[in-house]
Amino acid sequence: MINLENKNIIITGATGGIGKSIVKTLHNYKANILATGTKDEKLDKLKSEFENIKILKFDVSQNEKIEKFIENATNQLGGSLDCIVNNAGITMDNLSIRMSLDEWKKVIDLNLTSTFLLCKFSVKKMLKNKSGKIINITSVVGHTGNLGQANYTASKAGIVAMSKSLAIEYAKKNINVNCISPGFIKTDMTDKIEDKFKEVIISKIPSARLGEPEDIANAVLFLASNHADYINGETLHVNGGMYMA
Ligand code: NAD
Repeated sequence: MINLENKNIIITGATGGIGKSIVKTLHNYKANILATGTKDEKLDKLKSEFENIKILKFDVSQNEKIEKFIENATNQLGGSLDCIVNNAGITMDNLSIRMSLDEWKKVIDLNLTSTFLLCKFSVKKMLKNKSGKIINITSVVGHTGNLGQANYTASKAGIVAMSKSLAIEYAKKNINVNCISPGFIKTDMTDKIEDKFKEVIISKIPSARLGEPEDIANAVLFLASNHADYINGETLHVNGGMYMA
């Protein structure tokens, strides 16, 4: 049986659709959670909903402050770090010929560079325990490409390759670095898609529905647990069969 009791876990993007579901699921399995996001109101709501959860407001685009953030977050959790779920992410869609350098850089910087730095400083903490789990949330479109998302798809594909490199570097130290690649999941991010495009997307999903945030949270639960100790550098696709790797 999966038990995350006494496991210290940081979850980024914890106030979003998928993030909140990850918080709920790992909390049900008794993890010691530090949830981070950028909005006070939403973080306060999380704190009121989940007993004993720690919250820490942080904008992950502040690259130079990430080391300090990991330090503060780990201290709040009691001084050690077992797992980080890098879930924060943004989209800034545009056809590539119209995509500004700013739109390109903002998405790459937040989705890829910040994730790298969060991994780097988490690894430093995990090396002290000689164990740890890093779970990076990518996207099906990082494997398939997608119209209007050259920046986002590049950032998510980059996370997959980076995670494999980190997995190779730290496997001997019992640190597992894996990715979860969601298909189209019902959250604010996909609410932005027009209904007619949603219908086209659903027509390409063998399960004939969008995913629920819980579908992703359950995959995180597995990879965060000791049931996944021999899985490293892998990407778990959770997409209702729309893309089979
Ligand atoms: P969401 O918009 O509901 O949540 C995104 C989260 O990221 C929010 O909590 C937001 O506060 C946080 N975030 C954004 N910018 C931030 C910043 N600068 N600093 C700190 N936090 C920041 O979207 P979601 O659907 O829950 O997405 C969660 C993750 O799943 C993202 O990485 C996204 O790319 C990925 N994903 C989502 C889908 C989907 O269909 N919803 C599909 C594939 C991948």
